[in-house]
Amino acid sequence: MSRAELPTELIDKFNRRVDYIRLSVTDRCDFRCVYCMTEDMTFLPRNQILSLEELHRVARAFTELGVKKIRLTGGEPMVRSNVMSLIEKLGALPGLEELLLTTNGAQLEKYAAPLRAAGVNRINISIDSLDADRFKKISRVGKLDRVLAGIDASVAAGFDRIRLNSVIMRGYNEDEVLALTDYAIGKGIDIAFIEEMPLGEASDHDRRQTTCSNDWVKSEIEKKYQLLNSASRTAGPSRYSQIAGHDSRVGFISPVTHNFCADCNRVRITVEGRLLLCLGNEHSVDLRAILRDKSKDDYDLKAAIVAAMDIKPERHYFYDRDHAQPVRLMNMTGG
Ligand code: SAM
Ligand code: SF4
Repeated sequence: MSRAELPTELIDKFNRRVDYIRLSVTDRCDFRCVYCMTEDMTFLPRNQILSLEELHRVARAFTELGVKKIRLTGGEPMVRSNVMSLIEKLGALPGLEELLLTTNGAQLEKYAAPLRAAGVNRINISIDSLDADRFKKISRVGKLDRVLAGIDASVAAGFDRIRLNSVIMRGYNEDEVLALTDYAIGKGIDIAFIEEMPLGEASDHDRRQTTCSNDWVKSEIEKKYQLLNSASRTAGPSRYSQIAGHDSRVGFISPVTHNFCADCNRVRITVEGRLLLCLGNEHSVDLRAILRDKSKDDYDLKAAIVAAMDIKPERHYFYDRDHAQPVRLMNMTGG
């Protein structure tokens, strides 16, 4: 492939178009959610993580290869120092149609309006309980009132859409499915239920005992609400239903019980600059080595991204004995 021959879109071996990246801006977090981290996490040394300039360079390379949507995630994106300067630069990238953020919401009271002004279109806020003690048990350190204030600030900031993310776990919060749904409806925002994924070892519980299927979560919601199959699908693992009579939609992200890999349109970039081609597999390419090699330039970076499309796996196999399970925790993966 010569410099002139770089493609304007990324297509993998299975003819899937990759136009969405999830960019992890930190592995650190101010929470320690039981399904995501161990209590005594050690984080990466500073020189191993991409600088803000390197993150911007990676994002620009992807948009020049036809990526239209970038989600910032982590760890908790808002704990990265100076992250707003990166977000402002990403918001101005030519060709980018949507800039999205997934956050635990703890700092949104302060940052919701600046994020909107910087060009963030949509925001996902994780919340697993509306009971302060329980919220603390699940997040180990988080304060519910700060997240609730962050949600209100986000509603006031006027994002195109706001979605709550809830991981429902048996023995922790399975009795809150309806309360969380009622809360989202009351705020006029969406909510998605995410099945707990076996990413790394959880230290406080056995995931096989706690994972709740989304079929069960859906049946809980249907005890009170009629769910209409919505035409709107963001290409990706969420399946949305409109809640009859309300503005809110419910999304079901079911990577454990349903496999939607056939129309996967995304790849992840870890904070170490590893281009991860599938959430449930280890296939990856080291972009940091290219970024830090003075003899290489943006052409080399883009050529490596194009070549990586050939190793994007067809699908993942969670809880399948015939296939290796991921050893990465979610904060290292980029949620
Ligand atoms: N800190 C931000 C947050 O909590 O929204 C962004 C990063 S977090 C890793 C992204 C999403 O992944 C959150 O909604 C979280 O609930 C979810 N998550 C983390 N570990 C998970 C797991 N093992 N299974 C399913 N979802 C998980
Ligand atoms: Fe932090 Fe998000 Fe992981 Fe919770 S889910 S520990 S908030 S990165």
